[in-house]
Amino acid sequence: MVVALYAGAVATADVWMPALARAFAEAGLAVDLVRPGDVPPEAVEYIVYAPSGPVTDFAPYTQAKAVLGLWAGVERVVGNPTLTQPLCRMVDEGLERGMVEWVAGQVLRAHLGLDRFIGRHTPHWEQVAPPLAPERSVVVLGLGALGAAAVWMLVTLGFRVTGWSRSPKAIEGATCLSGAEGLEAALARAEILVTILPNTPETTGLLNARTLALLPRGAVILNPGRGNLIDDEALLAALDAGQVAQATLDVFRTEPLPAEHPYWRHPRVTVSPHVAAETRPASAAKVIAENIRRGEAGEPFLNRVDRARGY
Ligand code: NDP
Repeated sequence: MVVALYAGAVATADVWMPALARAFAEAGLAVDLVRPGDVPPEAVEYIVYAPSGPVTDFAPYTQAKAVLGLWAGVERVVGNPTLTQPLCRMVDEGLERGMVEWVAGQVLRAHLGLDRFIGRHTPHWEQVAPPLAPERSVVVLGLGALGAAAVWMLVTLGFRVTGWSRSPKAIEGATCLSGAEGLEAALARAEILVTILPNTPETTGLLNARTLALLPRGAVILNPGRGNLIDDEALLAALDAGQVAQATLDVFRTEPLPAEHPYWRHPRVTVSPHVAAETRPASAAKVIAENIRRGEAGEPFLNRVDRARGY
């Protein structure tokens, strides 16, 4: 019997523990799924982890073979000095679908100019048809599990899509750029810019006064990645100057976004409360089960985080 500790959010344990138990049974794994305090820490072999859960010190879990994250982003755990066990993050169908749907919806909203009509209750009949998707250039920063899925959907919808990542990539139907020069070229063509990058020291402040100035005037920014990517003061200045026409932000440096933050009141900012993509228990539990199976079979874990890279 393998001992796995549920160390996700206490408030959602009632949802997660049955989903995990079901996935373990379906995978034919004999797992004793315990909560903190049920067994001594040194009896735990796998830690099913979320930053919103109770575990902050991994040192007592001397026999743990892996920390299996329920979240895609790892910035709150990757630098934890007590973490010596392999760390895996969550990549699953639910997160991917959620991100694809959020990005498709927000890109189409910007592309079609839907904000001109939604909420209008004064007569104004102006027939200006939007361009078609092949006439619109959309840029996605970050071509990982979620960014690549978003690119695929945007290509399917017919947009002219450019993606950018750290290492060179190839995605059918899209232009892929990488590195510092690639970023400048990507930003210069971003009528709609989507940021799906992780929070690392290298990505912090990536969108700042200098890089925002590289965008075509009137660009739209969609950020479902992480709040650290944007220098908030620079974005507000770019919005006020008309350099950026609109920003829809799902993630922030401080969450929940404080009530006094200017984003809440800015007429051309939409605040979305970190709902772009959520880990869904039914699909994510299967990924956790597969990683426990791999750990027991001596196979490499899925979605292992590179601690030096930070993602
Ligand atoms: P991945 O780790 O699969 O992909 C990360 C991508 O970012 C890779 O393409 C990587 O490049 C690129 N990247 C990282 N650092 C740099 C850099 N310095 N310069 C250029 N490119 C860089 O992550 P996911 O796609 O699974 O998730 C991305 C992020 O989305 C998560 O880290 C999380 O912050 C956010 N997220 C937000 C959610 C929400 O609800 N708003 C939900 C889930 C995730 P390379 O391919 O070369 O390694």
